[in-house]
Amino acid sequence: MSSFSLLVVDDQPANFDVIEALLDSPRSRLEPDHTYEFHYANGGQSALDGLAFTRPDLILLDVMMPGIDGLELCRRLKAMPEWSSVPIIMVTALDSKQDLARCLDAGADDFISKPINRAELVARTRSMLRIRRQYLQLKDFNTRLEGLVNERTAQLQRLLFVDTLTKLPSRAFLMQELAAACQDDHPQLAVAYLDCDAFKRVNGAFGHAVGDQLLVAIAERLRGQLRPGDLLARMGEDEFCFVLFHAFDPEAIERWVEATLETFLSPFIIGALQIPITACVGLAVGMQVSSSAEAILQAADTAMYKAKQQGKGSYKVFDTALHLATLDRLILETDLHRALERDEFVNYYQPIVRISSREIVGFEALVRWRHPSRGLVSPDAFIPCLEDSSLVVPAGRLILRRACQQLRLWHEQGWPGLTMSVNLSAQQFGSKSLLNDIDDILAETGLNPVSLKLEITETAVMGDPEAATLLMEKIRQRNIQLSIDDFGTGYSSLYYLHRFPIDNLKIDRSFVDQVEHSSRNQKIVETILTLGKELGLAVIAEGIETEQQLALLKGLDCEFGQGFLFSCPLPPAEIDLLLKATGTGRPLIQLC
Ligand code: C2E
Ligand code: CA
Ligand code: CA
Repeated sequence: MSSFSLLVVDDQPANFDVIEALLDSPRSRLEPDHTYEFHYANGGQSALDGLAFTRPDLILLDVMMPGIDGLELCRRLKAMPEWSSVPIIMVTALDSKQDLARCLDAGADDFISKPINRAELVARTRSMLRIRRQYLQLKDFNTRLEGLVNERTAQLQRLLFVDTLTKLPSRAFLMQELAAACQDDHPQLAVAYLDCDAFKRVNGAFGHAVGDQLLVAIAERLRGQLRPGDLLARMGEDEFCFVLFHAFDPEAIERWVEATLETFLSPFIIGALQIPITACVGLAVGMQVSSSAEAILQAADTAMYKAKQQGKGSYKVFDTALHLATLDRLILETDLHRALERDEFVNYYQPIVRISSREIVGFEALVRWRHPSRGLVSPDAFIPCLEDSSLVVPAGRLILRRACQQLRLWHEQGWPGLTMSVNLSAQQFGSKSLLNDIDDILAETGLNPVSLKLEITETAVMGDPEAATLLMEKIRQRNIQLSIDDFGTGYSSLYYLHRFPIDNLKIDRSFVDQVEHSSRNQKIVETILTLGKELGLAVIAEGIETEQQLALLKGLDCEFGQGFLFSCPLPPAEIDLLLKATGTGRPLIQLC
């Protein structure tokens, strides 16, 4: 049961007694379920002084009082935020319209005429208390709602700012902290960006549940490396980032990075599994780079990317040379945009021969960039950048279209048996438009799909083996052949190989190189050939440069080959001449 506090302000105590007597009797039946406390003040000032104690829910206020009179007190109360909502009933002997208007003007909610009539007093008090009760309920409801909203907001903030899997701070949180630190001009700030090596392989081999547990274990080890006051966040899938707020000594920081990488030396134990994994770190130190959070993070990311190129488990510090390399890359990217617009990409074609007879059986399309000032640029110089940009899909489409048009032409000119191999980058292979593009190009050129071979790398399919298999099946339903390029260099997964719907294996040229001198390479080539036979795949050896290599491959029963010994990649006009000179069926000899 709650209680209402009624304050009567009147210079004559007798009036209080009357009001109390009238209201406090059971007959008056004010608000049910409430008790009443009556307070009395004999003037305006004492009413104001006693507010904190009386805490009124309703005030009955005499108009005519010495000192602060009723109207003035009413005005003042209505101006006090804490008390403005308390209903005020003016008790007055004056009842001209003008007097009442003045009461209302002062903020009064109602009035009662003197001498006090019981029925009127009870009715008006009751209605004011009802209003008061409703107001209090609403206020209570609002407070609860506000609490709920605050709680929910805090919860969302926590979700947003905490990575749910590892319970580490999130990227959003790190960005906020880093931005704040940059504002404070933290010259000793360093950022270490860590990315696990070949993490996808773990997911691929053991499933996502194990992958998740591994991430939690990694986060735990990294937490152990956290220095007091520093920050560690999970940035993405298998990426973590440290912000070191007091990196005074660059050498000490490098030692710390080395120690952090050493925590990966022992394998992670997940249930019954022991999973070895390494990571690369890119380090950016605040004073070397511009001071925005994004720029520092970008620098650390660039350094990490470079570390990856150095090999698993390495780290790299961002320096000016790297900065310039990044700029170079930006320039390159703009240049590539222009190259596509100005049609500067051209296809060269390298013959693929049957090893036993050296006859040309087909070609591999290899793109070149005819740069207005740099001349002919080889793909190794721009394909990686192309693959990082959104250009890879339109550029790849162009290369495929040209190659198909060209082969169709050679078919028409009298060599219908030739095939065309076209390289697909991982990004292109993963792109949604690939199948549509292929269908369009085949329809447009009228090329028989049987003569088209698409080359993809192991890396491109290992990212998501299930999705890759589906896509490969769709490609093969179109009677197009699939080849695994650079076989043996990627995340070679023999286990998966037999599950992939493929037709050809291309032995990477690093194994063919020195095959005549290196027993290791010879062993690898032999193994790939045996594997090919087991799985019913055609095998093509890349990069054959010498007669000895050719003889050895022939001895091992390798069916197809490609390399400078036969021909380097050539523009179409020169292939025309070559075809006319040798035809198919005639051996191709040393043209490079
Ligand atoms: P890849 O697919 O392994 O292509 C074979 C590379 O080996 C070509 O280099 C070719 O010129 C070179 N090569 C051929 N025979 C020999 C030889 O006897 N000795 C040596 N040392 N090298 C030989 P290229 O044309 O510079 O292409 C390099 C890489 O660029 C290609 O490697 C391929 O991964 C990529 N690439 C080329 N064209 C395209 C393309 O149109 N699309 C995509 N996505 N990638 C391409
Ligand atoms: Ca290739
Ligand atoms: Ca290759």
